[in-house]
Amino acid sequence: MAKLEKMTKRFPTGVFLAAVEQSSVAISITDAEAKILYVNAAFCEVTGYGLDETLGRNESILSDKHTPPQVYREMWSSLVARRPWSGRLVNRRKDGTRYLADLTISPVTDVADGSLYFLGMHRDVTALHRLVRELRNQKLLVETVVDSAPMALALLDTEQRVVLDNLEYKNMAADLGDGEPALRVLEALRASSGMVLDPSAPAGCSPGEGLTGREIELKRADGSSRWYACSVRCFEEEDASADAFFDPQAKSFLLLAMNDITQARRQQEQERLNALRAVLAESERLQQLREAIAGAIFQMQIPLNLIGAASAMLARQQAGGDLQALNGVLTQAMQTGQAALDTLRQGMPEAMSEDESMLNLNMLLREVLALLTESILAEGIVVDWQPAYALPPIRGRATQLRQMFKQLMQNAIDALRQSRSPLRELRVTSERKDGTLIVSISDSGTGIPHELRRKVFEPFFTTRRAGGGHVGMGLTLAQDVAMGHGGWLEIDDEYAPGCRVWVGLPVSTTSAETVLEQEGETS
Ligand code: FAD
Repeated sequence: MAKLEKMTKRFPTGVFLAAVEQSSVAISITDAEAKILYVNAAFCEVTGYGLDETLGRNESILSDKHTPPQVYREMWSSLVARRPWSGRLVNRRKDGTRYLADLTISPVTDVADGSLYFLGMHRDVTALHRLVRELRNQKLLVETVVDSAPMALALLDTEQRVVLDNLEYKNMAADLGDGEPALRVLEALRASSGMVLDPSAPAGCSPGEGLTGREIELKRADGSSRWYACSVRCFEEEDASADAFFDPQAKSFLLLAMNDITQARRQQEQERLNALRAVLAESERLQQLREAIAGAIFQMQIPLNLIGAASAMLARQQAGGDLQALNGVLTQAMQTGQAALDTLRQGMPEAMSEDESMLNLNMLLREVLALLTESILAEGIVVDWQPAYALPPIRGRATQLRQMFKQLMQNAIDALRQSRSPLRELRVTSERKDGTLIVSISDSGTGIPHELRRKVFEPFFTTRRAGGGHVGMGLTLAQDVAMGHGGWLEIDDEYAPGCRVWVGLPVSTTSAETVLEQEGETS
């Protein structure tokens, strides 16, 4: 109270009265029963009541049945205990319209006689409340839209924190299971686009800048791949904090949208494999025909040579009579046989012509493994695929090389089928040694006896039983393909048990670019 006395000495009491009267806050003073003793101009303005219409009446003239009785009960339990109360009420103006009042009531005790008064101060906060509600509704709407979006969405701030995400993003995080997916996506996008894509870096993310529909691959915890078509957009928002009131600051954000396209990718890959399978089947059919005709020519040539030799012998002995007639028959047989051979040679279909292109060896090997999946699974074979992480491209004929690797892997599968060993492994590796890319295909099957390891490359030699499509040209042709590409094909002399074939192919000298295994696996 000493303070009050000091203040009233410094200021005339009238200044206090004027300050209250002119305040923009609606102020009222009541007795202990809430009977109005004083209202300021702002009170009259907010409520619509004139001064005379309020004095002596209860504050309940402002009450509206939209305020639950419980609120008044709590208000009064505070006030009777001489504690201040603050809250929001729905008030009714004189004209019957309603407004939302932010009200504070403070008990005031008269120092002279100890009687109790209440000081009420309220503001019309209807507009503010509407704004807050609308904002909340909008946020709810945005969240609902974002949540029902079919793609994963994540909003990152400058600290690379996800400040907003949706259900699909949460599903994506659960599916991938390792770290924050948005950060992994950003890393992959940076690597593939060369963009900085960092809102905290200067010029790392200008407003409006971004990427659209960039496809990236992420690995799941179990090693399988997921593909996403990603879009990134950078944008700025004005800082709403008090610090930035006089010094407007912009906050940068990155909006990431990630669409899971794994299914579509798999389908695409399947279609591509089917097309490859068709090309290989056609090429194999042609090859088989060529092998059959070449085999027939080879087999017919032997009796013809014998007939030729017999005929020459007879001619040298100057045979007469019957023998001369025999010689005539032999010559005729030889000519007819030779004509048949010529017809066969002419009927030999041309080998498939194919242009050279830059090839990713890892991709080629992976494709062949995919093409052989069915037989590999059917034989219960475990594949150990060990590609070099990065390989330079080679220049070559894709179908021929696929056919060569398919032949070698098919040989390994056949050997495993024949073997009774419980160890059923097909191992395929790729590596680079100087200017050569080396592929090894090893199996734990029957193996090739040491003395036959040279012979198996001879045309029409086979260790398999006759029939079953084996004419003994597979390795011969595989070696031809390797050599036709400036490379080599060898059987590992030391390898046991089973068989290991080495193929060396020269790195393309026309391109120094590096093909990544990751690309090779899927593209
Ligand atoms: P009421 O019958 O008046 O009261 C409702 C409940 O409040 C009852 O349950 C009763 O127990 C309790 N109550 C009422 N008066 C007393 C009392 N004197 N002592 C103990 N308990 C009591 N109300 C508004 O709606 N809008 C306002 O802007 C507003 N401003 C106020 C400003 C001041 C300074 C004060 C003291 C009160 C103010 N009130 C205001 C409250 C008002 O006085 C009424 O209590 C309220 O309006 C409810 O009125 P009612 O006629 O619906 O019910």
